Amino acid sequence: MLQDKDRIFTNIYGTHDWGLKGALARGNWDGTKAILEKGRDWIINEMKASGLRGRGGAGFSTGMKWSFMPKQSDGRPHYLVVNADESEPGTCKDREIMRNDPHTLIEGCLIASFAMGAHAAYIYVRGEYIREREQLEAAIDQAYEARLIGKDNIHGYPFDLYVHHGAGAYICGEETALLESLEGKKGMPRLKPPFPANMGLYGCPTTVNNVESIAVAPEILRRGASWFSSIGRPNNVGTKLFGILGHVNTPCVVEDAMGITFKELVEKHGGGIRGGWDNLLAIIPGGASCPVVTAENCEELILDFDGLRAVKSSFGTAGVLVMDKSTDIVRAIARISYFFKHESCGQCTPCREGTGWMWRVLNRMAEGRAQKREIDQLLEVTTQIEGHTICALGDAAAWPVQGLIRNFRHVIEARIDQYAANPHPDPVPVAAE
Ligand code: SF4
Repeated sequence: MLQDKDRIFTNIYGTHDWGLKGALARGNWDGTKAILEKGRDWIINEMKASGLRGRGGAGFSTGMKWSFMPKQSDGRPHYLVVNADESEPGTCKDREIMRNDPHTLIEGCLIASFAMGAHAAYIYVRGEYIREREQLEAAIDQAYEARLIGKDNIHGYPFDLYVHHGAGAYICGEETALLESLEGKKGMPRLKPPFPANMGLYGCPTTVNNVESIAVAPEILRRGASWFSSIGRPNNVGTKLFGILGHVNTPCVVEDAMGITFKELVEKHGGGIRGGWDNLLAIIPGGASCPVVTAENCEELILDFDGLRAVKSSFGTAGVLVMDKSTDIVRAIARISYFFKHESCGQCTPCREGTGWMWRVLNRMAEGRAQKREIDQLLEVTTQIEGHTICALGDAAAWPVQGLIRNFRHVIEARIDQYAANPHPDPVPVAAE
């Protein structure tokens, strides 16, 4: 378990002053100028050496991403864009940073922007996060007032930070849709290439990073890459904000070491599973798009990128949704399908048509009103969606269904048998159109 001295977010529960005074007392903005004086290359190399992998779900090396930005400007400005559109169901970690520890993010924005030659950064905040946005804006005002950021700041690097409030569309969490939305257009993902590092916001070199990835950067640079990389296990290092939700006794967001086991996380921080360990049915480990992991696989489950890949799921944003045996797993996945159907932007046929198709079939399966051969047909459709779309929403919609069929085919079959024996006259849809 992570020791207190290794925690980066020391006010994640808002028990202390979130403002600048409190942040300074906690060590934020400490030696920021000295970090900048070490230069762009040093910062990027240190970030690479730290082994930090993006905390927004994809897990790509943050230092590497920063290094993709052009070293010299060709006349176009560079931008940092922070993805605070935390809309994945089951994920609520970035909001704690924004409302309780916002200066970690603001300081991170300055340092990351400096490392990439950006003099302006935008934080794109999820539409529903109103209090978080207000708190963040108040903290940014404090930083301007104290001349920590701004055109003429004490760090000697002109830098402006803007907050943009989204309108509540899940797809705007996809980085190119986010850029479109930031430009005032409909939030629809762009075809890649060109990638944002060449052609991002307003056609200029841009890097889009998750809130947590940026907020941990200052502390990594202060304490050193080797400190960060010594936590966790190779290829999966550092501290991480985990969300524990669903059927546990004390749901919470907690910072712990990468590679913590699921059992330890739930027992130490989540207060145990409702009704005890034997009552566990399955978990969705990192947001709604991650395939379910059965209770059996949870016994020794290690929560990090490689640990989840070993059980054919993914780490995602580490928002661990726990489901006990009272859960109707077919209905739960049907509900997730409804979510993706609702949030599809509609540009690609496989996603636009396929998400609705999957939802309708799952909706019937949840009632048992289906044929067993449709299970394989459904699986086949998921493979026609996965990898055949502009953005990852298609994959995100397909994976939960694949996870359901892989792990709970017997439940679907039993439901079909049950219905065949006793047809239900009045089926209840999972979610209304
Ligand atoms: Fe839009 Fe879906 Fe295509 Fe993404 S995969 S661009 S959400 S239609």
